[in-house]
Amino acid sequence: MLSVYKQTFSSGLQRSGIRCIGSVLSDLNINDFGVKNEPVLEYLKGSKEQKELSASLSETACNTEDVPIVIGDKEYRTNDVRYQVMPHDHQKKIAKFYYADTNLLKKAIDTATEAQKEWDQVPISERLRIWEKAASLMAGKYRAKLNSTTMLGQAKTIIQAEIDSAAELIDFFRFNAYFLKEATKYQPISENPKITKNSMRYRGVDGFIAAVSPFNFTAIGGNLSYTPALMGNAVLWKPSDTALLSNWTIFKVCQEAGVPPGVVNFVPADGPVFGNTITASPNLAGINFTGSVPTFSTLWRQVGQNINIYRNFPRLIGECGGKNYHFVHPSADVMTVVKGTIRSAFEFCGQKCSACSRMYVCESLWPKIKEGLLEKLCDLKIGDPTDVKTFTSAVIDKKAFDRIKGYIEHAKCSNNLEIIGGGKCDDSVGYYIEPTIVQTEDPKDRIMTEEIFGPLLTIYVYPDCKLEETLDLVGTTTPFALTGAIFGQDENWLRCALEELKMSAGNFYINDKSTGSVVGQQPFGGARMSGTNDKAGGPHYLLRWGNPQAIKETFVPLTEIEYPYMKQ
Ligand code: NAD
Repeated sequence: MLSVYKQTFSSGLQRSGIRCIGSVLSDLNINDFGVKNEPVLEYLKGSKEQKELSASLSETACNTEDVPIVIGDKEYRTNDVRYQVMPHDHQKKIAKFYYADTNLLKKAIDTATEAQKEWDQVPISERLRIWEKAASLMAGKYRAKLNSTTMLGQAKTIIQAEIDSAAELIDFFRFNAYFLKEATKYQPISENPKITKNSMRYRGVDGFIAAVSPFNFTAIGGNLSYTPALMGNAVLWKPSDTALLSNWTIFKVCQEAGVPPGVVNFVPADGPVFGNTITASPNLAGINFTGSVPTFSTLWRQVGQNINIYRNFPRLIGECGGKNYHFVHPSADVMTVVKGTIRSAFEFCGQKCSACSRMYVCESLWPKIKEGLLEKLCDLKIGDPTDVKTFTSAVIDKKAFDRIKGYIEHAKCSNNLEIIGGGKCDDSVGYYIEPTIVQTEDPKDRIMTEEIFGPLLTIYVYPDCKLEETLDLVGTTTPFALTGAIFGQDENWLRCALEELKMSAGNFYINDKSTGSVVGQQPFGGARMSGTNDKAGGPHYLLRWGNPQAIKETFVPLTEIEYPYMKQ
């Protein structure tokens, strides 16, 4: 493929400033969806949404909400008490919650397994009605609460909360309902319906689904637990300790919308205790996981070890980590690269699975890109997420703080690495880490290959004449393949890079940053160690949770055993 590139590139680059280039994908189909994305509200001073959010923030900030375990229609509180604190002000507790022990988890498994049988009888049209009601409650009455609990509990700024706990969450509910409605339109062929009628119906899987969610997106918790439920399954939802209050808000909204008791059971628990208990149950029908590679690998291994005990082969979906890249070609537009990289690498402290964490920049553009990045870095306000001027806030907890700080220490000690911007860490009040840029001379240093999950970007500057060798590094130096972006105005090169990097990312961007996928627009997920790539936010995802039954109905009697040729 690169030979094609050589021919076209050697004919010379036309670099005449910024221009709009055509699509390098000519065969793209444009779908006309019967459902629309939830608008992202602006929160301008004095607007209705701004006033409602302010009030909700004040209320959430001065309470420590008591969050029970919910199994069926009963609430439980154990002696294993935990607190969720504000990452940017860790003395403040916003939620008190309780870990479910093994016995309670077993009770939840039994409750879900029983509930599934009845829930599966509820017509799809009724489930769709409940989902639409939930989406409307999220978009209206509970929008401010979803956002304030996300802002204070996970240290997200207004815009980061709005795109997550409002827009994306609502989109998951509406789009999945729409995808299910569309899927049921398919019926198999009946050649002569007067003789034989073929049909297909969706069932849930008998047993229960375990939904295990991460801290970094409130919407993911809602999707992991409620999409299997939409398909007729019953669920044990283990939320992340550090996203507890926002996740509890989703659960309450869905209760109010009419999801019956036992269909989704809210069971905060110690991770390994939860993992050990669910994988030891014969009724485990699936695990819907988003989080790190080591946790998913552990769960997969446990399922493998127990494979002989299960009633179903458990379905395993895991969306995991990334080492997402920006690759800059000599024809790239500098401003787009600079602004896109700042947003991708540092919004929400780089704690998006899609955040840019390694960048390859050609030597010819480096002076301008470096100047732009460092100038913008100085302007970023880091602080309280409720302050409208704040660009990004604290990282999620002490464990994350120590891990990211460890990489910064590594950069300070290594001869190949130079911190060119940021680098300060302070956890006295909140878990603050300055957005940090490191330049490396070694593109294979562990800072360029391991997932860091924090506001740390490492840049490798390559000689323009080594473009091809550098492009080779992208897909070969990390085990991940989640997101990636290429920047350039040379259409021939873009086309070649698109092919060359085909397996390096499940979500690929051309002249755009590596973050910001939208439900229905960029279905999300990566392969290799980034996960099973089931594309949340797309039409295929929910089908993974269906258990279709094909039915053949015959209206005429069977009169023969022999076939005609036998009677000749
Ligand atoms: P994590 O793996 O530490 O935790 C995820 C969940 O697993 C939490 O609820 C945790 O309590 C639970 N857990 C931990 N050990 C367990 C065990 N042995 N059995 C069962 N559950 C267990 O991940 P995190 O820190 O919450 O999230 C960050 C990670 O998630 C990053 O690696 C990020 O890239 C990834 N992520 C991926 C996507 C994606 O779509 N690919 C999206 C968001 C986050």
